[in-house]
Amino acid sequence: MEDSCFARFAPIVAIATYSQAAQVLTPLTQDPNIQLWLPDSLEKQGNSQHYEGSLKEHLASIWAENQAFIFCLAAGAVVRLIAPLLKNKAEDPAVIVIDGSGNYVVSLCSGHQGKADLLSQIIARQLGAKAIVTGGSSAFGLPAIDTFGFIYGWHKGEGDWTGVMAAIAKKSTVQVIQESGSTLWQKHLPPSHPFHFGFSESSAELNPQARIWISPTKRKIAPKSDFPKVQWHPRVLWIGIGCERGTSAQLIETAIDETCKTYHYATEAIAGIASIDLKADEAGIIQVCQRRNLPFKTFTPQALKKVDVPTPSEIVQQEVGTPSVAEAAAILAGENLQVSKQIFKSDTQLGAVTVAIAQANIEYIGHTGRLYLVGIGPGDLNQITPAAQTAITEADIVIGYTLYLDLIESLKRPEQVIEASPITQEQQRAQRAIKLAQWGLTVAVVSSGDCGIYGMAGLVLEELQEAGWNGKSPQVRVFPGISALQSAASRVGAPLMHDFCAISLSDLLTPWEVIQKRLHAAASGDFITALYNPRSQKRTEQIVTTQAIFVQHRQEDTPVAIVRGAYRQDEQVTITTLSQMLEHPIDMLTTVIIGNTTTRNYADWMITPRGYLDRTRNEE
Ligand code: SAH
Repeated sequence: MEDSCFARFAPIVAIATYSQAAQVLTPLTQDPNIQLWLPDSLEKQGNSQHYEGSLKEHLASIWAENQAFIFCLAAGAVVRLIAPLLKNKAEDPAVIVIDGSGNYVVSLCSGHQGKADLLSQIIARQLGAKAIVTGGSSAFGLPAIDTFGFIYGWHKGEGDWTGVMAAIAKKSTVQVIQESGSTLWQKHLPPSHPFHFGFSESSAELNPQARIWISPTKRKIAPKSDFPKVQWHPRVLWIGIGCERGTSAQLIETAIDETCKTYHYATEAIAGIASIDLKADEAGIIQVCQRRNLPFKTFTPQALKKVDVPTPSEIVQQEVGTPSVAEAAAILAGENLQVSKQIFKSDTQLGAVTVAIAQANIEYIGHTGRLYLVGIGPGDLNQITPAAQTAITEADIVIGYTLYLDLIESLKRPEQVIEASPITQEQQRAQRAIKLAQWGLTVAVVSSGDCGIYGMAGLVLEELQEAGWNGKSPQVRVFPGISALQSAASRVGAPLMHDFCAISLSDLLTPWEVIQKRLHAAASGDFITALYNPRSQKRTEQIVTTQAIFVQHRQEDTPVAIVRGAYRQDEQVTITTLSQMLEHPIDMLTTVIIGNTTTRNYADWMITPRGYLDRTRNEE
């Protein structure tokens, strides 16, 4: 359930009122996160339930407890049904409408905060339909400014969000002042974006029509300001806490809030609380963390003792074995101390609290990252599985080799970050993907063909093992793709109908002696053999030796397929023979398939018999 692409939208309701609509929704209801409701006039199917009475009443009864509603119903009817239930965009669930033929998936309501835009795109991928997203920012290929920060775990602060979004829709100049948090999003905007980053020499000259602050500082925004302003708060503040045993949660909260207020920090920018391990069971701190959904990090006195702090205390040293708890813990969690120790006591509340604040260089995201290892097939969008397309659509960041990323360009969402790298940098790519997933992003690493066949999947898993991965976090999913041997085979017929093997002729990572040994084994074992990486500009001899090895075991007229760029625009397909194969162009975009002793050519098709006809003949 957790690893479904729908988990982050759950609980989800799907509703159909007639049987064809129910059929359209059926593929979605295989997912345990989606509950299908049907009127009792329709037959139940799979994970469906019947509602009694009117849909209007039923909807009202399930509205509050669900995060997303998918209707296969006329848009007008849906609008009338949901109108009395809608409150505001911060609270309303995602509402999606699918037409009765299942061709269009419309993000109707709560596109940004309710995530209907993303959900509609994922559903469209699953149904092979087209997503209709009508939000302004999406039309310009821009990230939705009121939600994109959630990717990085940022919290929204005060501001005129509607005003800033209207300015963006009008393509007015929008000033962005980012003082903390990831700047990844800045590097992947469309060329015509309206943002101006930082203070220019003269902001007056810039004449911005809106401003976005991205900062741990809480700015007061006057209601009658000259132009709309909003603020995002990346979670960079670590609150170091020391307290007497039994200090009340309320006093701890007051201490945190007062300190933030005094130093103009937004409480929304708090990443978490840090203290000494002795306080790991301190009820007041635990309560505050639960109420505010904050992580609680604790450190040993030995670790805390080593930290240089501005206000060490001899008394604290004698009591707990380190001269500082609040300041040292804040620094260990957040690195840069911003507010030194503040002491709080109250006449009415139990206990005493010390608070210090440190600011981390990297924000705390607050969700577990995921790594999707995705095979994108030979290079045509139609040859990517819907599951792999969904994984790419869902990812916050897509990492791959430039050529492959170009092939899937049309799948890109505006919020997505695409990181392309040259072909040789596989290891850097794997390490980068792991780092981002460990931080909390959903990262798709794409390989051509199948990602587990001379692709990135193995490398990423090896690197994860190297990094001491526990097998669970980040969560890993591997999405298979159509490998070159399958796509090449499909272009020439059915050459792989009997036992076959794949051998890469690249000796970059495998010694040439080993490759030769395997070639001899494959040739003598009568395996149909698919050769990957057959020839590069520098590496030209291996294919010659390979042909010589096969000639020792097979007839010279054994059919050979040479397929270059299968399913790409410049595809070239040649069927030749073992003796003539070297007369044709072969390069790194080519897969060569050498038939076995029974493979034959027939009317420009390559066929390896499986043996059915022989059996029939024998039976006769
Ligand atoms: N993971 C990929 C293989 C990567 S190794 C897969 O499963 O297909 C790269 C080699 O794959 C190339 O040198 C070439 O031999 C083969 N290849 C990849 N895409 C191809 C295509 N579209 N047509 C023919 N061969 C291809």
